[in-house]
Amino acid sequence: MASRSGRFAPSPTGPLHLGNLRTALVAWLRARHESAPFLLRIEDLDRGRSRAEHEAGQLADLRAIGIDWDGEPVRQSTRDEAYAAALASLAAEDLIYPCWCTRAEIRDAASAAHGDAPEGAYPGTCAQLDADGRARKARSGRPAALRVRAEQAAVTVDDLLLGPINGIVDDFVVRRGDGTFAYNLAVVVDDGWQRIGEVVRGDDLASSAPRQAWLADRLGLAPVGYVHVPLVLGPDGRRLAKRDGAVTLADRRALGETPDEVRGALAASLGLCAPGERPSPSELVARFAIERLIGRGATVWDPDAVPLGDAGR
Ligand code: GLU
Repeated sequence: MASRSGRFAPSPTGPLHLGNLRTALVAWLRARHESAPFLLRIEDLDRGRSRAEHEAGQLADLRAIGIDWDGEPVRQSTRDEAYAAALASLAAEDLIYPCWCTRAEIRDAASAAHGDAPEGAYPGTCAQLDADGRARKARSGRPAALRVRAEQAAVTVDDLLLGPINGIVDDFVVRRGDGTFAYNLAVVVDDGWQRIGEVVRGDDLASSAPRQAWLADRLGLAPVGYVHVPLVLGPDGRRLAKRDGAVTLADRRALGETPDEVRGALAASLGLCAPGERPSPSELVARFAIERLIGRGATVWDPDAVPLGDAGR
C-alpha cells in the first residue's frame, strides 16, 4: 500500500451500527498497521437523507472506540465540480449517454432480453437512440439520467479476502435524473483524488468493485486494492439494523458497556484478540494481520449475548 491512504466512507444517514464500526475498525487497523494515512470521507450525496447530526454522531463514535484519522473529513457535498469534470471527460470520450428509462421499463426490457447480462443489469435501451430518438424522449419532459457506455465489459478485480471478483459491467448510472451524482462516480473520483491505495469496506459492496475499477481506468486513475470484509448480520440473516436491538454504540453504552469493551468485542468477533480481552487501539494495530480474516464468514448477531457473542464477560 506504500504511502497511499486507507479510508472509511460512511453515509451520514443514521447512527453507525456495530457492523459499520467493525468495518471501520478493520479499515483503520489495516492502514495504521501499514503506517499508511487514514482518511475519512462523508458520503452525503443523498442530501435528502444525510444529516449533520448523524455525521457528528458517527465521528464521535469512531473516536470513542479509538479510531483516528488524518486531516479533515472530506464531504462529497462539496465535490460537485470534481464530479462534473469527470463527467465532462467521459463525455469527451463518448462514454456517457442520457437515459430516460424508468425502473419498470428496465425490468421489462431486461426480462425480454436474452443475453448473459446479470440480473438487474441495464439492457442498453437508450444507448441505441439516435438524435431523433433522444429528441423524442426529451419531449416527454422526464429528466434524463446519465449512464456510462461500458457495453458489458468483463472486469476482474483481485480482493485480498475474497480472491478474484468477476463482473460484467453494465451501463450504470453516473448522474441521476434529479442531477445527483451517483455513488459509483463519486467513490471513484474521490478515491483517486484522495490517493486511496486500498478500499476496505463491507462485502455487500463487493459486486460494485468491477464497475468502479472499470470507471477508474476510463478516468485514468490508478487502480486501488480491494479488501471486502464480512458483515455482521441480524438473526434473520439480513444486514444488521435497528430492528435487531441494541446495535449502536449509544445502545451498548446504555447497557453499561464501555467503548473499550465494545472495541474488544468487535476485535474478538474477527479473531483479532481473544474473547474478553480489551487490547488498546495501539496493541490491536501492532498485532493486526489481515490474513486472519481470510475465509471468515459473516458474524450473526445474537441479541441475547454481550456484543457479538463475546464470551468474555
Ligand atoms: N458510503 C458507503 C456506505 O456507507 C460506503 C462506500 C464505500 O466504502 O465505497 O455504505
